[in-house]
Amino acid sequence: MRIGVDLGGTKIEAIAIDSTGRELARRRVPSPARDYDAIVAAIVGLVAELESALGATGSVGVGIPGVTSPATGLVKNANTTVLIGRPFDRDLGARLGREVRLANDANCFVMSEAADGAAAGAAVVFGVIIGTGVGGGLVIDGRIIAGANAIAGEWGHNPLPWAKDDERPGHRCYCGQHGCIETFLSGPGLARDFAHAAGRSLDAPGIVAAAAAGDGAAGAALERYMDRLARALATVINIVDPEVIVLGGGLSNLTQLYDTVPSRWAAFVFSDAVRTRLVAARHGDSSGVRGAAWLWPAR
Ligand SMILES: [Zn+2]
Repeated sequence: MRIGVDLGGTKIEAIAIDSTGRELARRRVPSPARDYDAIVAAIVGLVAELESALGATGSVGVGIPGVTSPATGLVKNANTTVLIGRPFDRDLGARLGREVRLANDANCFVMSEAADGAAAGAAVVFGVIIGTGVGGGLVIDGRIIAGANAIAGEWGHNPLPWAKDDERPGHRCYCGQHGCIETFLSGPGLARDFAHAAGRSLDAPGIVAAAAAGDGAAGAALERYMDRLARALATVINIVDPEVIVLGGGLSNLTQLYDTVPSRWAAFVFSDAVRTRLVAARHGDSSGVRGAAWLWPAR
């Protein structure tokens, strides 16, 4: 049995799955987001509850909004800030009496989809979450590639490739650079691009709905969006050459992406033919918690 825990800003969710990925039980509690000891206690409590309900013990993986720094072994880059600087995996492991694996929540998403989701069976899987930000992760042969700096897959802060004159220097990004992929491809990035071109404001779901209703400016914004996504993913293919790229997050619901983007990335990929498939995530909101469980892989 595998237990996965997803530590979010407002809730902590835990799931138990069997060796085939079938869900056995699920529990959820509000997250005591500002109290480190209470977070540890809540996770220990969820694991105990699942194990007692199912009469079995499991491996434990935890998805967090941050990473364990390879340099220090302590959590960094976490927006649940009480985790920062803490040996979270060791503290949990000591309380649970077993080794606990941690991973970034974007990496858990890719792990879930590679294990038994939309990318099942593929050896090299790149996953992208396009929502309020742009995150990514890489799974090869069923294992997350965390990287020497724990930033593998973080393509959102590379510059938009093959940028056109009206795309340079691009909007300022919170990371300190200009024209990052995230500033174009996040939901707020799409909304800003639409507002600049159309002279009125809609959020990303509003733009998608307006385009479907025949709004020309909204349709044009989505065309620019898909063209930029195609260029941005072409650089990923040129470096990692994945069999599957899986999309999650709010903008992944845009169904025309899956035909249009591959038809446009071919011009930028250094290959006579492109066999990489672009697919939508299968597990939706459950990918974080399922991927945490799969941090102890079958193979
Ligand atoms: Zn940036």
